[in-house]
Amino acid sequence: MNPRRSTHPRVVHMAVFAVALLFFLPGSTEAQEDGPGWKVRSPFRPLDLATPNTIRTGAGLPGPDYWQQKVDYRIEAALDPSTNVLEGSETIRYRNNSPHALSVVWLKLDANLCDPDSKSHVLAVPPLLFGESVFDFTCDGYGMTLDRVAAGDRDLEHEVMGTIARVELPHPLPAGARTEIEIDWTTALPEYGYGRTGRDGTLYQVAQWYPRVAVYDDVSGWNLTPFLGAGEFYQEFGDFQVALTVPDNFVMTATGTIVNPDAVLTEEQQSRLERADASEEAVAVITQSEARSNRDRRASGTKTWRFAAENVRDFAFAMAPDFRWDASSWDGVRIQTFYRPEAELWEEANRMSWVSIKHFSERLFPYPWPHATTVEGPNDGMEYPMITFVPTETTREALYWVLTHEFGHEWYPMIVNSNERLHPWMDEGFNTFIDIESVEVYFEGDPYADAISVQPLELWAEHSIGGREQAMALPPDEQHDLFWAGYFKPALMLHLLQYEVLGKERFDRAFSEYTHAWAFKHPTASDFIRAMANSAGMDLDWFWRGWVYSTARLDQAVTGVSVTEAGVTEIRIESLGEMIMPAELAIDFADGSTEVVRLPIEMWKLGPVYTYRVPAGREVSGVTLDPRAVYPDDDRANNERAP
Ligand SMILES: [Zn+2]
Repeated sequence: MNPRRSTHPRVVHMAVFAVALLFFLPGSTEAQEDGPGWKVRSPFRPLDLATPNTIRTGAGLPGPDYWQQKVDYRIEAALDPSTNVLEGSETIRYRNNSPHALSVVWLKLDANLCDPDSKSHVLAVPPLLFGESVFDFTCDGYGMTLDRVAAGDRDLEHEVMGTIARVELPHPLPAGARTEIEIDWTTALPEYGYGRTGRDGTLYQVAQWYPRVAVYDDVSGWNLTPFLGAGEFYQEFGDFQVALTVPDNFVMTATGTIVNPDAVLTEEQQSRLERADASEEAVAVITQSEARSNRDRRASGTKTWRFAAENVRDFAFAMAPDFRWDASSWDGVRIQTFYRPEAELWEEANRMSWVSIKHFSERLFPYPWPHATTVEGPNDGMEYPMITFVPTETTREALYWVLTHEFGHEWYPMIVNSNERLHPWMDEGFNTFIDIESVEVYFEGDPYADAISVQPLELWAEHSIGGREQAMALPPDEQHDLFWAGYFKPALMLHLLQYEVLGKERFDRAFSEYTHAWAFKHPTASDFIRAMANSAGMDLDWFWRGWVYSTARLDQAVTGVSVTEAGVTEIRIESLGEMIMPAELAIDFADGSTEVVRLPIEMWKLGPVYTYRVPAGREVSGVTLDPRAVYPDDDRANNERAP
């Protein structure tokens, strides 16, 4: 989902310190004499993580017994734009890779969020406010009807409970066995579907539209968190074969590749696509004037578009009669943009997509699917495998931000599939963090590139209100300020881990090893925390406690600068908040020079007071903590002091 915020970038001017970086000064490693120490609750105490086992190891990696289910779908559906009714039938092939026999299969029916009896409707769940974007979860009037649930000739007993449904299998499905379930269903597409699916005139962006099997895993068994709107989705990986029948004047794009191009594309479009597949520059597959004249074409019948996708966790599609269609290629990946003729800002969108896919591929993990497509339209930003929905936008900056954000989700969580309904920080947060670098690459040399990197800290000042803030570990449905706790606070957290705690190389390697280890798998928060500690070679429980599992606040202070009889200057530093972080101390000397000392986190091992000693012979004229002002320090007034 889209954390639309960057429309109005602001620049923070930071003092620039020309200083020498010193890591050790004589006398700085002596034990504390005057600190009270941590009494019982040391911030370094271990976190209460899930017990490691042979499925998920103590090193945060998938173990030798790791398993996950495989769920393939064969779907045939028809969408009638005159009624906006979508009728489908699907065959779910469920492979039980778990070591347990299963007597039921649970389905997710997200479209039932729009049912008048849904929990969101009954409770009138308030909209999610995201800066300038509003996500309303009270879409009107429809929902999904299961017309038939069967295995072969046999109807299966089933019970719909809002956005989930329980299906009784005729016999328990043994470990390692496969079964097929057939479902016929009907749903009507709302105009505005909770920020995920919807339509604008004849443009359709369709998602979370078919009955999907819930994840069964080793952590929770069946993952049945109801869909209230805020959490996105958590799905198994599988293969899709989807046939969509629509009026023949529509152009369609979807998760997966078109397997019957001769039936749905003109020869000219196919030859332009061939050219695009050899071009780094965008090739118009449907030009602006063609799109305009296509608008006047009437349907003379229907067409069936057939798509196939492998190893994806969902399937979404979009269609309109009047799409412009640009395509290019990066490293064998077809980069596509679909937009209406009026959305002229989108002429740059293909380039933006190309740079985003290249950047994330080189930085994180190679993009694994044959195409990466983004569609302009009514949704305020939403991601599905191979396809993303992005709004029209009015500035290049805003367009790039949302576009690269939705593509960033191809990595978190489309490849590294954490549970979005539980841990927004592990997908929206990781993604917001990587998006900032993507903006810096695309807008290099532009003020927007400088503005974006300080945005999380600026937002901290605005959003992180003591006593009101919630821990980022809470699920999305329980967050009052998901924009902060799910997106920008995690981005600030990872930025500080990268630059202030571990250093860039050490952080990047650990983050990359986590990404590779869990690609196409289901990592938990415990797995991530263990993987980072093991790869970085540093216990970080203190860090995650402060940032993820509490609302601890940071307040580093210089509470004394004095000179001993022996001429040693003692600088007393205190951590007054519950959050601990390493400290950076700028020491100004009477001779006009300044030295910067970086004190590692172990400075707090003996308690919240640490004394730094400057050897005799140098006169200190003043000290400043966090001289670059990179920390969310609650009280900056106590960061400076003179003897
Ligand atoms: Zn998002």
